[in-house]
Amino acid sequence: MIERTLAIIKPDAVRKRVIGEIINRYEQAGLTPVAIKMIHMSKSVAEGFYAVHKARPFFDSLCTFMSSGPSVVLVLQGDNAIKKNRELMGATDPAKAEPGTIRHAHGTNIEFNAVHGSDSPETAGFEIGYFFPGMEIFG
Ligand code: ADP
Ligand code: MG
Repeated sequence: MIERTLAIIKPDAVRKRVIGEIINRYEQAGLTPVAIKMIHMSKSVAEGFYAVHKARPFFDSLCTFMSSGPSVVLVLQGDNAIKKNRELMGATDPAKAEPGTIRHAHGTNIEFNAVHGSDSPETAGFEIGYFFPGMEIFG
């Protein structure tokens, strides 16, 4: 099934200058970028994006990190895009991520883990709409 998912190349990965390397992985895996932009999230934009985690102990630190510099946000489209992107990303904790995954290659720790990917069709719908109006998506 052709799906769309939201990906974020987080500020740690942008600082490491691996934007191109990560986008190449998406394209090689058959995930087509149909929307893309660089944004520097304010803390309140990060809080809105991660509202589902607001009761977690790491919420404040996570939102400080996500607003610490520019990120690249993308909509990826392709067959089984949500699950495929989660597989490309690897486990949340880079120390537990399989070799060959983005987080294994570029993550630093469980917080600074290089990329985000939607985890279900419901979250993908919310997350894509949070950053992109329909007219900015070219699928
Ligand atoms: P994922 O990004 O793999 O879907 P979660 O949705 O559980 O993971 O968490 C969202 C983000 O919060 C993670 O990508 C990571 O940046 C951060 N995070 C998750 N767990 C922790 C933790 N225990 N300590 C610090 N930051 C965390
Ligand atoms: Mg998540």
